[in-house]
Amino acid sequence: MSFSENIKLQVKEKAAFRCCRCQNIGIDVHHITPEKDDGLDDISNAAPLCQNCHDQFGDNPSKRKEMVQMRDWWYKKCEIKYSAQDVMLMREMVSKLEEIKHGSQSGINELKQILRNIHNKTTDKVIDKLSRETADATASAIVNSIDAIELSQKPFFYVYYLEEDYSYQTSMKGRNFKNKWFTLEEDGKMTIKKGYVWDGCPPKYKIRDLYIGLQEGCINFETGKSKTYYASLVHDVFYQFSVDIRSLVSRGDVDYEFYLLLKRDKFTFAALYYFNVRLFGWVWWNRN
Ligand SMILES: [Zn+2]
Repeated sequence: MSFSENIKLQVKEKAAFRCCRCQNIGIDVHHITPEKDDGLDDISNAAPLCQNCHDQFGDNPSKRKEMVQMRDWWYKKCEIKYSAQDVMLMREMVSKLEEIKHGSQSGINELKQILRNIHNKTTDKVIDKLSRETADATASAIVNSIDAIELSQKPFFYVYYLEEDYSYQTSMKGRNFKNKWFTLEEDGKMTIKKGYVWDGCPPKYKIRDLYIGLQEGCINFETGKSKTYYASLVHDVFYQFSVDIRSLVSRGDVDYEFYLLLKRDKFTFAALYYFNVRLFGWVWWNRN
């Protein structure tokens, strides 16, 4: 047996047509406990995953519990983040991707049009170059990186919204700074104000028209947030206001703080991500 079409659609809509692990678009509905192990064809045993994540996690019994937690977390996120209208838009985008896979040229043009409607200016060239081979990756990258969508007139494409003030002890002592969004005190205590929005892991890099995005980490179940959540928050705040704070704090300080937070939150790829921001971060530092 397999899932009914009705269940598949329900799962996809609950996940806004995005993978519950990496948030890319273009997903299938997979069994958490496989059919050969008597896994059921009901919604509790279904997870929305892209092919890549399915290949990595699909048939690994020790990951099943994590998969359920990841899925439920993403469902909750989608409920907060997406309106019915947004889900329709994702659905439309995904159906265009399907058409493209099957060789439709008009599908490519229609997808470009959809992406143009939600794009920010920097993605123009990327959209122009979209082809059958790059359609999935390009659409995912744009959806993952766009700041605001005009169609629904609300900035829902920020990945994260800070729900409460966040305070933590940085390693940066002896600097004083305060603006509308955050304070950094003499003893290194930093407080970021509720309502701050950011894009998750450090800016999706655009190099020669290619988006090289760092994926969000898996969920840290102690905090209920992705393992990169707090590190990306602090990093984003400093980069956002780098023009104002550069005389007090260097880019190296900020990147190092990012690394410490990734370590604190037990993120496996801390060193790799740190390396990445060291390499490419200068593009965003000190820019208005
Ligand atoms: Zn995925």
